[in-house]
Amino acid sequence: MSLWKKSLTELSSAVKNKEVKPSEILEAFLERTQKVEPEIKSYVTNLIDKAYEEAKKKDDKLLKLEEIPDLFGLPIAIKDNIITKEIRTTCSSRILENFVPPYNATVIEKLNKQGYIITGKTNLDEFAMGSSTENSAFFTTRNPWDYERVPGGSSGGSAAAVGAGIVPAALGSDTGGSIRQPAAFCGVVGLKPTYGRVSRYGLVAFASSLDQIGPITRTVEDAALLMNVISGWDRRDSTSSKQEVPDFTSYIGKDIKGLKIGVPKEFFIEGLDPEIKNIVENAIKQLEKEGAVIEEVSLPTTKYAIEAYYIIAPSEASSNLARYDGVRYGYRTSDYKDLEEMYSKTRDEGFGAEVKRRIMLGTYSLSSGYYDAYYLKAQKVRTLIYQEFMDVFQKVDILATPTTPDIAFKIGEKTSDPIQMYLSDIFTVSVNMAGIPGISIPCGFKDGLPVGLQLIGKPFDEGTLLQVAHYYERLNDFYKRFPGE
Ligand code: GLN
Repeated sequence: MSLWKKSLTELSSAVKNKEVKPSEILEAFLERTQKVEPEIKSYVTNLIDKAYEEAKKKDDKLLKLEEIPDLFGLPIAIKDNIITKEIRTTCSSRILENFVPPYNATVIEKLNKQGYIITGKTNLDEFAMGSSTENSAFFTTRNPWDYERVPGGSSGGSAAAVGAGIVPAALGSDTGGSIRQPAAFCGVVGLKPTYGRVSRYGLVAFASSLDQIGPITRTVEDAALLMNVISGWDRRDSTSSKQEVPDFTSYIGKDIKGLKIGVPKEFFIEGLDPEIKNIVENAIKQLEKEGAVIEEVSLPTTKYAIEAYYIIAPSEASSNLARYDGVRYGYRTSDYKDLEEMYSKTRDEGFGAEVKRRIMLGTYSLSSGYYDAYYLKAQKVRTLIYQEFMDVFQKVDILATPTTPDIAFKIGEKTSDPIQMYLSDIFTVSVNMAGIPGISIPCGFKDGLPVGLQLIGKPFDEGTLLQVAHYYERLNDFYKRFPGE
């Protein structure tokens, strides 16, 4: 099998057993990148040539290492809203187009300790606001399964890169579905960890109470491997948790007999494409046949999740984005007569339409006359969502739902209607609102395009999610398929 088709786990053991050199791996991904990246456009900053040079250095280092870390010499792509020292970090925004950070995010430091190799910074919707990468200030990434369709978003570049096989794994971020939705659209695995599981230090803030970094990979085991590296308490993120980090790979290969899987009826309603419904229901039946116990459950507040999310996320965004003022870093307008005009022109020229829309929505919801009516109410809805999940988790171990209401849509199809775009996250946002973990895994195809199954877990129980996801993955062969093959 060609090296570029191998999973991160397979590549890791091959390096550890000294069966293959990092430079051989990078050469395979370099060739694959040259072949498909010009069409897919997953990278804002493509570093694959540098990565190959780095791999050659790692070849020699490998011989001298006594203990070889799991990710040594392995290529990984990073979403361009994760801070990388001396590597341009744009958030796919004009306002940060030339921003070269002087420090690393905590997750990058952790990857560096492993000796990973960065292949590039991947495209996203500007500041992670969107569901298609069409809000990138630079260009739209294409879905590797159909170039006329979006890869999803906001981590569309990361998901497309993994889906196309130009890199075995990537990091994304998920505020309302931005890891799981593009993973579903591109036929790969995407895990949003529990809020607090992974340090947000160095993740450019969108909505701080919802944002989490997580892995996008080809297999579930690969997600476990990456989770082992990136998880854990960090003194530089006051919201990171001291909860013990298990060995996530220890859940791989475990049986699912007797495990209780809840199916929330509110996720199988009107608006869900009938074929997707069918595919997801079949996946759940497959798990039942293997000994899992399926139970219908109800999460009635789910229907308000999108509305509440689009108050809370923009409110936090409007505050977080106040820092881009043209003074400290980032873009500054060239022509202004006073400070006030410098601020407003910088922000007007630096931010795209969606970002401005969010800032306006958020500033409005937080203003004194409207705070109680909107922001406070949305926070109450958020509490109800959390409580409902906790009640349901008294009865079942995990939940199974579709990741998205439909397959990847056409480029341009939803750009003129923000509400339609917002609805693509209808099944993912409540997970962020509750701060709990969720994973999307491929569970079939509709019209040749991938469909995602979402599993939702108890706080800090990513392990059980990985266990069930891996069990399901091995019942089928979706993970072995590559577009165009
Ligand atoms: N699509 C959602 C939004 O636009 C979620 C984005 C995300 O998870 N970063 O806000």
